[in-house]
Amino acid sequence: MRDLLLSYSSGTSDVPLLGETIGENLERTVARFGDREALVDVATGRRWTYAEFDAAVNEVALGLMARGVAKGDRVGIWAPNCAEWVLVQYATAKIGAILVNVNPAYRSHELAYVVRQSGMRLLVSAVAYRSSDYRAMITEIGFADVVYIGERGWDDLVESGRRSDPGVLRERAATLTFDDPINIQYTSGTTGFPKGATLSHHNILNNGYFVGELVGYTEADRVCLPVPLYHCFGMVMGNLGITSHGSCIVLPAPGFDPELTLRAVEQERCTSLYGVPTMFIAELGHPNFAAFDLSSLRTGIMAGSPCPVEVMKRVVAEMNMSEVAICYGMTETSPVSTMTRRDDGLARRTETVGRAMPHIEVKVVDPVSGLTLPHGEPGELCTRGYSVMLGYWEQPEATAEAIDTARWMHTGDLAIMDAEGYVNIVGRIKDMVIRGGENIYPREIEEFLYTHPDIADVQVIGVPDEKYGEELMAWIVMRPGTDPLTSAQVKDFCGGRLTHYKIPRYIHVVDAFPMTVTGKIRKVEMRERAVEILDLHDAARVRNA
Ligand code: AMP
Repeated sequence: MRDLLLSYSSGTSDVPLLGETIGENLERTVARFGDREALVDVATGRRWTYAEFDAAVNEVALGLMARGVAKGDRVGIWAPNCAEWVLVQYATAKIGAILVNVNPAYRSHELAYVVRQSGMRLLVSAVAYRSSDYRAMITEIGFADVVYIGERGWDDLVESGRRSDPGVLRERAATLTFDDPINIQYTSGTTGFPKGATLSHHNILNNGYFVGELVGYTEADRVCLPVPLYHCFGMVMGNLGITSHGSCIVLPAPGFDPELTLRAVEQERCTSLYGVPTMFIAELGHPNFAAFDLSSLRTGIMAGSPCPVEVMKRVVAEMNMSEVAICYGMTETSPVSTMTRRDDGLARRTETVGRAMPHIEVKVVDPVSGLTLPHGEPGELCTRGYSVMLGYWEQPEATAEAIDTARWMHTGDLAIMDAEGYVNIVGRIKDMVIRGGENIYPREIEEFLYTHPDIADVQVIGVPDEKYGEELMAWIVMRPGTDPLTSAQVKDFCGGRLTHYKIPRYIHVVDAFPMTVTGKIRKVEMRERAVEILDLHDAARVRNA
C-alpha cells in the first residue's frame, strides 16, 4: 500500500521552552556556576569565570546606558572573534538594545548599507584586522558614534559603566520582555543584497539552549568556537548554547586557523568543537594533525553547508568526536531547524541532517503547488515554530515572501524526508541542475566523488549547454601530493556506478572554492567563472582547428 503519510514532522520534547530574556538566563547560570569558567580568549590569554563575566557584561551594559543607548536602539559590532564581541552581545541583551552583527569581511560599501538600513545608533568596532582597516572604512562612510575595542574608547565605556549606579540596569531589565527584538543578522546570502533577519530573545535563546540540550552540555563542557561570532553558528549555537548550560566558551583565535584551533582544543581540554565542513577538512588535512592531543573531545557540531559523509566519519574516527552532531538551519530560523541526536546510529548521524528540533515543525512541499509531498520526494523545506524570525528589518515585502500567512518559513532548500522524519538536504532550489530534462541534485554527485581517494573537496555546478540546457561541471581540490585528475579519469571512476547523465562532463581542479566568510560556497560565482573558462576553451578549440 502506498505510504499515505506526508513529509511533515513536529519535534517533541519533555523540556519546555525557556520564557525569559537572555539577561535573565545568564543571571541564572551565574547563580548556579559563578566560580566556573565562562570564557577563554586564547589569543590574548584572558579568562573569566561566570561571576567575573557577568560583572564585565554589566559594566559594558551600564557604559552603553551612560552613552544614552535606549531600549530598541541598534548597536553594531564589527570585529573578528574576541572576548569583547561576547561582552557586547550580552550587554546589549541586558539593556534591550538590538545588536547588529556586522560581517568582519565587509568593505565600506556594505558597511554603509547596514549602518543605514538598520538605523545604527552606535558601533563597537575593532580598529583593524588582517587586510581590513575598519577605522579607515568607518571614517570613509562618515559614521561618528564609534567605540574602538582596545583603545581609550572602550576603556572609557567600561570605566563609565563601573562608575554608574547598578540600579539603573535593574530598572531597565524590568522593562524588557523575551519577545522583544534583540538581534539583527544580515544574512550572508550568496546572492543579492543582505536582509536583516530580526530575532528576539525567545528566538535565539531557545535555539541555542536546545542545541546545547541535544549535545548534552553541562558545566563540565568546554566548547571551542573557530566559527565567526557574527554568524548565528558562533553567537547562538555557540555562545547562547554554552552559557545557558554553564559550559565554557573557548575562542581559539580571531579568525579561523586550523593549527590554532587544534592547539586550543589540546591546551584548553575542549570537549566540543564546532565548524563548517571546510574547517574540519582543513584541520584533518593539517600536516601536524596527528601530533595534537584531541582526546578531550567528545562532541561538536558540523553545520552551515552540506556535511560530506566521509568528513563526518573522519571527524568521529580521527578527532575523537564520537557524539558529533549535524545541524541544519538558516539565520532566519535562529538558526537550527533539524539536528541529529546523540543516540542516532552512525549512518543517520552522518548521512542526514537529523530530524525536527524540539518544539519545531518541518515539512517538505512542492515548491509550485505548495502541497505537502509524500515521504521520499524532494521539495522545498519549510519550518515553523518559536525559531522563525520576527521578520526582515524594515522590509515587510521581503518578509512576506519568506514567511507565509501560516507562519511557515520557506527556506529555499531542497530536502527529502523519510518516514521517520529524518531529513536530507539535497541542494538549494537555485542550484538544482536540469540536464536534458533530468533533475540533478549536485549534492548526490559531490558525495559520490568524495569517495575518490585523491579528492579532498569537490563542488558540482550546472553550466549552460546548447544541447542539454545545462551540463555538469565538478570543481575539485586534490589531496596534497596527488596529481590533478583529468575528466577521463573521473569518467572512469564514475562509470558503471553513476547514471551516465550524472557524470560531470567538465572537471576543473582548483586550490580552493570561492567562499563567503561563513564557509558557504559561492556557486553563483563558480558558475560565472565556469562560463568564462569554458568560453576560453571553446576559443582555443576554434583556434586549433
Ligand atoms: P545562513 O543563513 O547563512 O546560515 O545560511 C543558511 C543556509 O545554509 C541554508 O539555507 C542551507 O542552504 C545551508 N545549510 C546550513 N546548514 C546546512 C546543512 N547541515 N546541510 C546542508 N546545508 C546547510
